[in-house]
Amino acid sequence: MPHRSDEALPAWFLGPRAENADLVERLVTEALRDHVFWRRNYHPEDGVGIRELDKRREGYEAAVATLTQELMGLLAQLKRDVPFFSGRYKGHMIFEQTIASQIGYFAAMLYNPNNVSAEASPVTTRLEIDVARQLARMVGYHPDHAWGHLTSGGTVANFEALWIARNLHYLPVAAAGAAAELGLRLDVRTPDGTSAPVRELPLWALLNIDAEPALDLWQSLWSAAPAEDVRRAVERHSLSAVGYQDYSLRLAATYGDALPAAVVLVAATAHYSWEKIVRALGIGASQLRFVPVDAACRTDPDALWERLREFAARRTPVIGCVSVCGTTEESAVDRLDQLLEVRDRARAELGMAFHLHSDACYGGYAAAVTWRADGTRRTAAEARLATGTTWPTDDWMRAMTALAGADSVTIDPHKLGYVPYPAGAFLLRDRRARDLVAIDPPYLTPPSQSTIDAGAGQELFLGRFIFEGSKPGAAAAAVWLSHKVLPLDERGYGYLVERTVVGARRLHAALRAATPDGFDVVVLPEPDINIVCFIVRHPQLSTLTGLNALNEAIYARMSHTRDGQAPEYIITRTRLRTPMYDGAIAPILESLGSGTVEEWASDSDGLVVLRSTVMDPFLASPTGGVDHVAGFVEALGRAAAGAFAELRDGD
Ligand SMILES: *Cc1c(COP(=O)(O)O)cnc(C)c1O
Repeated sequence: MPHRSDEALPAWFLGPRAENADLVERLVTEALRDHVFWRRNYHPEDGVGIRELDKRREGYEAAVATLTQELMGLLAQLKRDVPFFSGRYKGHMIFEQTIASQIGYFAAMLYNPNNVSAEASPVTTRLEIDVARQLARMVGYHPDHAWGHLTSGGTVANFEALWIARNLHYLPVAAAGAAAELGLRLDVRTPDGTSAPVRELPLWALLNIDAEPALDLWQSLWSAAPAEDVRRAVERHSLSAVGYQDYSLRLAATYGDALPAAVVLVAATAHYSWEKIVRALGIGASQLRFVPVDAACRTDPDALWERLREFAARRTPVIGCVSVCGTTEESAVDRLDQLLEVRDRARAELGMAFHLHSDACYGGYAAAVTWRADGTRRTAAEARLATGTTWPTDDWMRAMTALAGADSVTIDPHKLGYVPYPAGAFLLRDRRARDLVAIDPPYLTPPSQSTIDAGAGQELFLGRFIFEGSKPGAAAAAVWLSHKVLPLDERGYGYLVERTVVGARRLHAALRAATPDGFDVVVLPEPDINIVCFIVRHPQLSTLTGLNALNEAIYARMSHTRDGQAPEYIITRTRLRTPMYDGAIAPILESLGSGTVEEWASDSDGLVVLRSTVMDPFLASPTGGVDHVAGFVEALGRAAAGAFAELRDGD
């Protein structure tokens, strides 16, 4: 059967007017009834617990009355929530969820499985492992070598990425210490391609071993001596066991070499979670170093190379580098293919090795665009034919397929996966690295002869390898069912993402052409995915302060921040700050007019930019009712006029 994604799309969502209410009601009822049958058939000999007579008691009735009444109150309150389902919502990275994910969540929620361990979630833990494999395949990993799981979101997934990267970074040091203690001779491959005994390497070399040889070394350590001895020795020499304070003292004592503290490089556009993470891991916020972006807000590969050269010259080890696939503010997609080349060059010319992570929390699902239904890669030209636009470019395709080369990738199903919160995902290219954060709590370790098939037992005990403990199996069911209905290729998520890009381009073009009375709209370059950023200008407010005040006031009129007034359309805003955005700002300031460059550089408040995430797939080709592109532009004009009048009267 040929896939007709255009015909399937209206079946994927409840719809802005709940047009699919019948379908959803039927499926919800189905899930509930099926769960009821399950209970009724579970040891039917047990008899009833709540008798009909109990339901006639006054106290029972009162309890039901309270429940009903309070539910009504809750439902009324929820009407003041944000209408993510509407074409009028063009704010943060959220739209409504797929019906599949809602039903999957609801169905599994009735069972309330806990995916910390298969003991408490024999079904949904398997579903979680399935979806992690699907996501791993989508980014181009070999599903048998890769590993992944779901998290509560991108923040925790990113945390795990750096947690593993940090432990991997110090692994050769731990292995050298353990090998010395156990009297073992172990070799390891260094960046120049030769092998050397790990105990003879200087500290700088130990801190610049690639992931693969480091993990090979780890494996050979464990097979060279009895496990109990290795465990004890590793505990005495690993950073996670010893802690930073003692560890640095030991390094200085053992190697007589107090290297500068290791750094983490992140794109200047990086999500603020990275700062939380380096603080939490004890790496320190001052060890977080930003790599400037280019005019398209993508990490500048030349700038990365320059930074690496500086660090090599100062002998500052690099734990990891974070590239972004779909920046939170602009949906910019880093040229990961070029960043990987820079890493190769750093290995060859500087003897440096580090973990390369792609934070694809927002853009990860766009990788579905790169896949045909038959599991082979699409060409960019093929995809352009499907969108009928100039998107995606060949370079974009190269950047997305390069995800396969990242050591780890994080993707949020609760963003472009259109799945209910909480659902993030962490993916690791070489599954062996998960052992570096593994823990064995006695009460959760599966017995070797458990009911779960041997070998797979450990596999199904996720809690051992992850940061979180108890976690919703319902989230795994939601992602799983959604992937069934919307495959991770051109038919499903690929098509969905394409439609949002087409919609974003319509909006972008309309804003560029817009001339609201007395104002003009300066748009940032066409986005790599679907976030449209723009600035509204008025000739009488041409200083940076004036511009910022105007756009801030427009934002207030187009968001839920103004009490009691429902905005016509909902957007968000961000601030571009120096020095992070220096590479991207010049053309924008130029179009904004004279004087702003110096002001921007000296103004710590940066430049306020209005931001509109287009996750609404229906915006691309409105089929009836209001065209929300035209409506948006008109509403923006009204908001600008109101904001301007307010500022003028306030003077
Ligand atoms: C949203 C986002 C995160 C954080 O994800 P949460 O799910 O909100 O914790 C991290 N990185 C990027 C690029 C994001 O867009």
